[in-house]
Amino acid sequence: MSDITLGIIGGGQLGSMLVIAAKKLNIKTIVFSDDNDAPAQNFCNKFIFGNYDNKDKINEFVNLVNVVTFEFENIPFETLNEINKLKPVLPKPSINRLIQHRLAEKDFINKLNIRTTRYVSIEKKSDIEALEDFLPGILKTTTLGYDGKGQHPIKSIQELNSLNVDFSKGYILEKLVKLKKEISIIITRFNNLKYEIYEPIENVHQNQILKNSKIPAEIDNKIFNLSKEWAMTIAEELKYIGTLCVEFFIDRNDNLYVNEIAPRVHNSGHLTINAYNISQFENHIRAVCGLNQIPLEKISNARMLNLIGDEISHYRKITKLNENEFFFDYLKKEIKEKRKMGHLTTLI
Ligand code: ADP
Ligand code: MG
Repeated sequence: MSDITLGIIGGGQLGSMLVIAAKKLNIKTIVFSDDNDAPAQNFCNKFIFGNYDNKDKINEFVNLVNVVTFEFENIPFETLNEINKLKPVLPKPSINRLIQHRLAEKDFINKLNIRTTRYVSIEKKSDIEALEDFLPGILKTTTLGYDGKGQHPIKSIQELNSLNVDFSKGYILEKLVKLKKEISIIITRFNNLKYEIYEPIENVHQNQILKNSKIPAEIDNKIFNLSKEWAMTIAEELKYIGTLCVEFFIDRNDNLYVNEIAPRVHNSGHLTINAYNISQFENHIRAVCGLNQIPLEKISNARMLNLIGDEISHYRKITKLNENEFFFDYLKKEIKEKRKMGHLTTLI
């Protein structure tokens, strides 16, 4: 057994997969989650249930670990910052604060001369009325959105008037990109100019939720190289430690845009578990725990299917899969519509 104990904040499917990867490296894991049913408790060495502002629970957690990471970005900055005074939090809390806020995130990306969608900050309804230019667009909450939550497509000013939007929250309005394709890059940064980078993954979303991912992405060389270059520029600029995902749009004229950055392991990278010698989860653990970097080797092309809501039921009944298929059940207690329940990776 190694003498590192890793603390993970958040206990969903990403937390579970991090725990499983840590176990393989003989690293003990303590998961801290505000969900009493968090699936990662099935795999970790110790599970602590508590709200993310509960000082006693945070202390209990911090005292047990050497280093802390997280599975999702919407953890209060204050919590991460307090923990970071006692034990290192990786990636750094300041990165999380930047990326939690869509406006700050997009400003940061543009400053690097990397293209994003056109966007504008919206504080009140009348702000949009003067911005016909940005329509059709998507109105998004600046914070706390995921899987399309907090998003409203808007075609026209008339449509806006019939929308029930709570403008006490901050929003951005983004011009809708005429999408040809979406891709993502997963990169693990270990140190200055030390990376492992996975090839671009092609993603299909349904109702703003990821449905399928595959490698290789069907893209030209220019986009293949540029997406990797942009992901490296972003990771280097952030002095990021761990696994990071950059989501991209490609429009019908083959322009590349960064959609958003996820400062964590990512759903589109689940296929790395079976398609590479080292998964995005293992690489994340290696980077945040200061273990050695191992060159990535691709084992196979692959595709991944997200099992959302009821779709899991069919797969739970199957007793034998084909040799090239790998089924993951996140062991969530309740099946809910739009909830990611599991996935199936097929090596091709
Ligand atoms: P989330 O934080 O919920 O993942 P995203 O901004 O990534 O939010 O949006 C989810 C999905 O919605 C995207 O992957 C894409 O399919 C679609 N989408 C979001 N913004 C735009 C846009 N400006 N133009 C076209 N499609 C968009
Ligand atoms: Mg997204």
